[in-house]
Amino acid sequence: MLDVDPVARTADVQGMCTYERLVDATLAHGLMPLVVPQLKTITLGGAVTGLGIESTSFRNGLPHESVTKLDVLTGDGRIVTASATEHADLFAAFPNSYGSLGYAVRLRIELEPVQPYVALRHVRFDSLDGLAAAVESICMGGEQPGREHDGEPVHFVDGVMFSPDESYLTLGHWSADAGPLRPSNYTGDQIYYRSIRDRSRDLLTVRDYLWRWDTDWFWCSAALGAQHPVARRLWPVRYRRSDVYHRLVALENRWGAMARLDRLRGRPARERVV
Ligand SMILES: Cc1cc2nc3c(=O)[nH]c(=O)nc-3n(C[C@H](O)[C@H](O)[C@H](O)COP(=O)(O)OP(=O)(O)OC[C@H]3O[C@@H](n4cnc5c(N)ncnc54)[C@H](O)[C@@H]3O)c2cc1C
Repeated sequence: MLDVDPVARTADVQGMCTYERLVDATLAHGLMPLVVPQLKTITLGGAVTGLGIESTSFRNGLPHESVTKLDVLTGDGRIVTASATEHADLFAAFPNSYGSLGYAVRLRIELEPVQPYVALRHVRFDSLDGLAAAVESICMGGEQPGREHDGEPVHFVDGVMFSPDESYLTLGHWSADAGPLRPSNYTGDQIYYRSIRDRSRDLLTVRDYLWRWDTDWFWCSAALGAQHPVARRLWPVRYRRSDVYHRLVALENRWGAMARLDRLRGRPARERVV
């Protein structure tokens, strides 16, 4: 993380800066990147070069769309500054190039102001057609897309499907104060994605909202046992985060302990697909 300019609302960031560092640095100024992907470990360089999306994308686009310029280390050893006006072809082609055009060593991104809390509504749908129609009306409706749903403002949209006839849209809006709700904490016993079924309204601090998926990186923390009540009590909170799960998965990929157990139990081999 190189610099935050709170007046211009921009940040200068090195390619390998994780979103966790980036968010901590910008929140200190009451600002956040326009799009913050799900996991703390994702880097700005990775999200721009490999693309990204999250719950503000319906109004802010993808992470690369808030990059205003970048310094790229090219194959001939030069560092080239690319923007809409300098080396504009490299600037336009860089997103989704997976590092094949060069390596972004420094990026300047736009930031937006935050409020202390995000108030959430989990709206249930019995049919995916109904959910898709609601997404369309929130994202496409009116001159200012995403401004409201059922009379409440919408600044964040994401969705979770438990089965074809049980899906939820989570609609969030900025809130300056907590109101009647106490902010929830899903780094302890409670599990965020389960709460979506159990309660229709919720409140999170902005930081907890941005990292709501990181503790129970849904298909991963369960597979590693972190959602089992006993294991959860024994597993220190500071180690329930995506970089720890990444390391455990890397160890499994290297040594195959779970795969051996599966073979002994007569279970078929698992293929991990993201
Ligand atoms: C479990 C999981 C959950 C995810 N959830 C989300 C999500 O919620 N939202 C979202 O947007 N995405 C999500 N992603 C996707 C993720 O954002 C992309 O895979 C992203 O590209 C990963 O970035 P990384 O920093 O891990 O980079 P890597 O995976 O290390 O790199 C991605 C690609 O970019 C290239 N690259 C990396 N840094 C640079 C650089 N500085 N200059 C040039 N090329 C570079 C690499 O060579 C590689 O080709 C998720 C991925 C996983 C595995």
